[in-house]
Amino acid sequence: MGVPLLSVQNLSKHYDLGNNWFGGAQRWLKAVVDVSFDIARGETLSLVGESGCGKSTVGRAIAGLHSVTAGQVLLNGVAIGSPEAKVGGHWHRKIQVIFQDPYSSLNPRMRVRDIIAEPLRNFGMARTSGELEARVNRLIDLVRLPRDSGDRFPHEFSGGQRQRIGIARALAPEPELIICDEAVSALDVSVKAQIVNLLGELRHELGLSLLFISHDLAIVDHITDRVAVMYLGRIVEIGTRAELFETPKHPYTRALLSAVPVVDAHMRRERLLLKGELPSPLSPPSGCTFRTRCPLAEARCGTETPALLSLGGKQMAACHLLHSQNLNA
Ligand code: SF4
Repeated sequence: MGVPLLSVQNLSKHYDLGNNWFGGAQRWLKAVVDVSFDIARGETLSLVGESGCGKSTVGRAIAGLHSVTAGQVLLNGVAIGSPEAKVGGHWHRKIQVIFQDPYSSLNPRMRVRDIIAEPLRNFGMARTSGELEARVNRLIDLVRLPRDSGDRFPHEFSGGQRQRIGIARALAPEPELIICDEAVSALDVSVKAQIVNLLGELRHELGLSLLFISHDLAIVDHITDRVAVMYLGRIVEIGTRAELFETPKHPYTRALLSAVPVVDAHMRRERLLLKGELPSPLSPPSGCTFRTRCPLAEARCGTETPALLSLGGKQMAACHLLHSQNLNA
């Protein structure tokens, strides 16, 4: 395999919360801990997990919206933020983000035409006003909005149409990777499906790679090639769509999937219930951070952090039990 489009290597993001009120020890919030994955050209990888698991922080770090505490992110083999990337690669043009709430990310005082044209102007991607207009019109067509949309303001559109405007703006600088950060979470079910279909079509038409961040596994199933499951800042399982949806291995993945409604009775999974609440990332459990909710936890889980190891194929998981089963198989 050649150089992946995106390579995230041992990425960590810790927030310094200072001392507590009583002058105690420095407190750190470890939002992301030692996360690694690659995305190939044209591939979609989904990052899933409960709210607060660190998946959006990973997305924002890749987009350069957050500094990182440790590790690095490479685009086409070049570390983003490095002098080399700034000179030759315009990495900030090649990675674009679609946010959850398109309304708050669209300037209400700008016409749609100007919203879409803004990144084209910023990156000097049109030499004449005629070229600029042609590019904006093509983007409006690409996201399947009526041509006269350009003359209107964001408040004149529905939520789904506003997300299409956000997608057009993200596509304007001709990115190679789009990070969809809960991009369809705020939409109604039918509109959600339309936007996911649109993203899938655009990905094929334009050869894009997607990092699809979502807590909604039912939606992820429709768009992804691979899935990475996060829990308290770490990846606990990663694999192809088929591996994760058909043979989930980590107890957390199995619990998440067992809660997804399935129409086909043959596909129904045994319900695996999690114990208790998600622990605070300020004081994560020792050893395997999932142990306080894991129905299969054993003594070793409290003292040793499981490594993310291969289970065969492209599937990897971080669980002592799975690896001892693998060794004994
Ligand atoms: Fe459960 Fe232990 Fe596996 Fe963690 S390492 S998922 S606590 S069995």
